[in-house]
Amino acid sequence: MNIDSKQKYKKSDHLLIIKGDNEKSLAYHSIFNNPRVLDLSIITFINFFSTPISVDELKHICEGEIAEVMDELIKLHFIVPLDENARGLIKKMHVPFLKKVQHGTSLSRLELAISDACNLGCTHCMHFKNNEIPSRTGKALNMSIDIAKTSIDTFVDVVRKAGNNKVRVHFGNGEPLMNWKMLKYCLEYCSSINDISFSFAINTNLTLVTKEIAEVLKEYNVKISTSLDGLREGNDLIRVDREGKGTFDTIIEKFNLLKSINYPIDGFSITVTSKNFKHINANILDFAIEMGIKDISMDFDLVDTTDIPVEQCVAKIIEMRRYAIQHGLNFYGTWETPYRNLMLSSWLNSPHAFCPAMEGSTIAFGVDGSLKVCGHTNSKIGTISQISDIFSPNSEYINLIKNRLPGNNVTCTGCSIEGACAGQCHVTLESSRRNNKLMMTMCEFMRLTTEQLLKEYISHFEL
Ligand code: SF4
Ligand code: SF4
Repeated sequence: MNIDSKQKYKKSDHLLIIKGDNEKSLAYHSIFNNPRVLDLSIITFINFFSTPISVDELKHICEGEIAEVMDELIKLHFIVPLDENARGLIKKMHVPFLKKVQHGTSLSRLELAISDACNLGCTHCMHFKNNEIPSRTGKALNMSIDIAKTSIDTFVDVVRKAGNNKVRVHFGNGEPLMNWKMLKYCLEYCSSINDISFSFAINTNLTLVTKEIAEVLKEYNVKISTSLDGLREGNDLIRVDREGKGTFDTIIEKFNLLKSINYPIDGFSITVTSKNFKHINANILDFAIEMGIKDISMDFDLVDTTDIPVEQCVAKIIEMRRYAIQHGLNFYGTWETPYRNLMLSSWLNSPHAFCPAMEGSTIAFGVDGSLKVCGHTNSKIGTISQISDIFSPNSEYINLIKNRLPGNNVTCTGCSIEGACAGQCHVTLESSRRNNKLMMTMCEFMRLTTEQLLKEYISHFEL
């Protein structure tokens, strides 16, 4: 890059510097990310730009060759020309991103609400809380063969037209095994479509799994996502049947059943609420190690506030994450998403959103033929019969994704993780309409978690 030696540059208003416990600091741009661990001399150099200064002026203060360092810092947008408008720049990049969404090029995940019913009675369930489904049983909550087949055909048609041939089908949304015959039908039907390569995943509480069901899931290589909210004393406080009885023993019995047919689960998710918080610790990770399980996700209630201070939630995450890393486990959760985006993506070269749903990868088909961006949200974006409408420029779908992009989302303007978080989980946003403290608490939680994870990163970084 040729730098005009007379042009003045300044430190970007979006530059943030996180100090580690050692001599190192990590700098990043709150919209473009671009994290870099820097030593003190570079931080001092950047600070020369706290007031606008040109290269010619700087040469009187700084010794040595500065062109290379400046070049790098300008590319990272850490120091910028006085008139740079980061949000204006990112808005230009929205155009190709939204075009891809409109053409369906990003689509690859088909979520089927096989059943909105559930045999359990967990009060923290995101699905029932956010969708305000009044009952957990009833035939009307199951997807019919007609809706299932039309959903698959419709989705396949869109991805075919967009030139894709890979589809991942997720079976949800309450407990899909409440409608097992339909789920089995979908596996068989998808597998009969020869020009598309399907992979399958299911979100299940496992309690209805029989040997026959397990064998079919194995035959179709269905990736199983399930939950265990701690060891017995933690899990049984919140993951309960309709009579309030704990489910720990049943879930472990099903883990063993799957293992017995040589199709063991490789992970589980833990939800933490005020009730089980004190029971969640490294013991659950030891248990995973004993069971040969590698992937553990943990999330705090995303749709309701807990009475646990944010600092304590973050401290628990950091402590358990350290333990998991030491023992070779993958430990993650929604809390990790802004950190992961910040470390791995920049809108300057890889446009991204908070999650696949907000990137235009997913369409969720409801039992009634309604369409959503993700099975857990309650914002409907259309119906199966009008699927082509959802891709038109001003549709609810396109507007929902567009309004959440960094630069367009006014509630996120100025946030320290504006580009990396970009509005966080949409379900949290929806739930905050019922509970106005939720968004504020979750934003504080996301920011603090990201900051602590960055500090963890700095502490392990060798310059
Ligand atoms: S949702 Fe909250 S934490 Fe995330 S970018 Fe917006 S203001 Fe920041
Ligand atoms: S909106 Fe929330 S629940 Fe839905 S896919 Fe995104 S992160 Fe997951």
